[in-house]
Amino acid sequence: MDIKKSAMELNDYAIGIRRELHAHPELSFDLPFTEGVVVRELEAMGFTNIRRGIGGGHGVTVDLVGAKPGKTLALRADMDALPIREETGLPFASDNGCMHACGHDAHTAMLLATAKLLSGAQGELAGTVRFLFQPSEEPANGAAVMVKDGALDGVDTIIGLHTGNLWAGLKAGQIGWKVGPFMAATTTFNVELKGKSAHGATPHLGVDTITMAALIISQLQLIVSREMNPFDPRVLTVGHIEGGTTTNIVADFCRFRGVIRSFSTENSAFMKERIVQTVEQEAASLRGTGTVAFSSDLPPVVNDEALTLKMRDIIHKELGVEFEHEIAMPTTGAEDFAEYTKTIPGAFFYHCSTFGDERDCPHHNAHFMVNESVLWTGVAAMAAFALDWQK
Ligand SMILES: [Zn+2]
Ligand SMILES: [Zn+2]
Repeated sequence: MDIKKSAMELNDYAIGIRRELHAHPELSFDLPFTEGVVVRELEAMGFTNIRRGIGGGHGVTVDLVGAKPGKTLALRADMDALPIREETGLPFASDNGCMHACGHDAHTAMLLATAKLLSGAQGELAGTVRFLFQPSEEPANGAAVMVKDGALDGVDTIIGLHTGNLWAGLKAGQIGWKVGPFMAATTTFNVELKGKSAHGATPHLGVDTITMAALIISQLQLIVSREMNPFDPRVLTVGHIEGGTTTNIVADFCRFRGVIRSFSTENSAFMKERIVQTVEQEAASLRGTGTVAFSSDLPPVVNDEALTLKMRDIIHKELGVEFEHEIAMPTTGAEDFAEYTKTIPGAFFYHCSTFGDERDCPHHNAHFMVNESVLWTGVAAMAAFALDWQK
């Protein structure tokens, strides 16, 4: 089978699905319309073993059993959008206040096109391919629920990709790959500071949590710059702060929240320990108290070496050398695909869908756009991998 040609022929199909989903974006776990489109398309392809209603209510999996014996490979797409009001002006732009500003509509469309392509190649297929449609990637809590609901039961390995302009230096349609750490581990921290209120004119009669927060936030950056190996990337960002009521009252309460990012669970553990010590000690040094709570722990995405290089070789063979590109640096962005690679060996790839002009703008931006003309290369890469990986 000429995978490249078959995938190219499916590009219009992928564009049609992508636009339908783009016009109806849905958030996190609440994806009834999106699930409906996925199930409608899978049924039209003749699938009868669709598992729906999982992963918090709207996740979907379906198995394509090949004619030859073999292992099971999962191909994953995420399906959720973002609470952003779209400003692209595209004819299929959303008008419901939400937006597919990260390309997950394209992921779902590419995976449906892959299912369509592979359905026609069942006779050549060894083992089983599980198509996995996951909710709630943006809040990074959907993959764990899919795993809990058995989406990986019986699966030997998993592949996924993210489209867009996440890495520079690639041409539209190229598949970017990197062995080892690829996307960051993240943990959210929530700090609460307690002091004592007083008149702003008499700070010595109170305990000021605003000053405390200013000191601690500066101090936290020293964990990154002074206490860790500079060759080991990590980021600490405080993105939200609130406290106090007005100008002439010493604030007795202040809260701030942020995220730490690194590429190993050891680095995450070290940063967490030092955040707790810094908050408690610095708050006490100013006669107050501070507590830290952590949530949303996500491991790093670490790509299996053999699977990653196998994808590179398969792209060479089925698409051509010009369709792959080695990515030099990981990103400090996170992906809950990490929940899968924590459980079974897998690899995550980058599908470049840039325009190379002013239409390229950051993900999670109201003007974000995907170059639809290259959706077929993502389809071809996933389908080729499914057909060749066990050879
Ligand atoms: Zn995304
Ligand atoms: Zn995103």
